[in-house]
Amino acid sequence: MLVLRFLNVVAPAYFLCISCVTFVLQLFLFIPSMFKDPSATPLFCSSALLHGALFLFLSANALGNYILVIQNTPEDLSKGLNWVGADGVAPDWPDGSCPPGSALPNTHFCRLCARVTQRHDHHCFFTGNCIGSRNMRNFVMFCLYTALACLDSLVAGLAYISTVLSTSFANPLAFLTLLPQSISQFFSGALLSSEMFVILMLYLWLGIGLACAGFCCHQMLLILRGQTRYQVRKGVAARARPWKKNLEEVFGKRWLLGLLIPVLNVGSDYHRQKEQ
Ligand SMILES: [Zn+2]
Repeated sequence: MLVLRFLNVVAPAYFLCISCVTFVLQLFLFIPSMFKDPSATPLFCSSALLHGALFLFLSANALGNYILVIQNTPEDLSKGLNWVGADGVAPDWPDGSCPPGSALPNTHFCRLCARVTQRHDHHCFFTGNCIGSRNMRNFVMFCLYTALACLDSLVAGLAYISTVLSTSFANPLAFLTLLPQSISQFFSGALLSSEMFVILMLYLWLGIGLACAGFCCHQMLLILRGQTRYQVRKGVAARARPWKKNLEEVFGKRWLLGLLIPVLNVGSDYHRQKEQ
C-alpha cells in the first residue's frame, strides 16, 4: 500500500517534469532551429510556424484533458451512505477489506482514493485519480493527445538531431543504432551533453507515445463493448447493447467538440441525470 501511495505522488510529478522538458525543448530548441536553417525558404518558415501551432494544439488538449480528469473525480457514493466519518474523511479500511455497499454491482472501493465509485474503470497513477463514468472521455482524450504530442516531439527531435549531427534517418535502422553510437560518442567527448539529452528524450517520447496509443486503443475497445477494465478483471460479461449506445454514454452527443477542445462531457447520461 505504501508503494502504491508513493507511486501516486511520483507518477504525476514525473508526468509534469516530462511535459515541462518537452515544452522547453520544442519552444526553445526545435522550433527556433527550424527558422535558423540557412536553406529555409518562406515556405519552410510557414511550415515551422504550422508545426509550432500543431504542437501547441496537441499539448493544450493533453493538459486540458489532464486537468479535467482530475477535476471530474468520480462521485463518492459512500458519502450518501454515511461511510464517511463526521470529519468528512473515510475510515481507513484494513487491507483487503472494503465498505459494505461496495459489493453493489458496478461499484468499487478504491483504497488509494478512499472512495466508492460507480462504473469504476481503474486507478490512474499519472493523474492520481480514479477513472470512472464521469471522467472517462477526458481520460481517453488525454491518452490520445499525449500520444500525438509525444510522436510530434519525436519527429521534431529527429529533424533537429539530423541537422545538428548531419545524419540521415532515411533508413529506419539508423534510429536503432543512434543510441549506442551516441553513447560511445558522448563518452569520447564528440557529443555535447545537450545533444545526448535530446537523443535520450527521443526514446522516451517513442516509449510514452506508443504506450499511450496502445492504452487509448484498448480503452476504446472496452468502451465499444460497454465494459470497464475493472469488469474485465472480475470476469463480468459485457452489456448486451449496441456499440453506438456504449459510445454515446462515454462521449456524449457533442463528441466532435470534445475531440477538438478539452470540454466536459455535458451531453452524457451522467450529466443529464444530474441536471434532472
Ligand atoms: Zn482511486
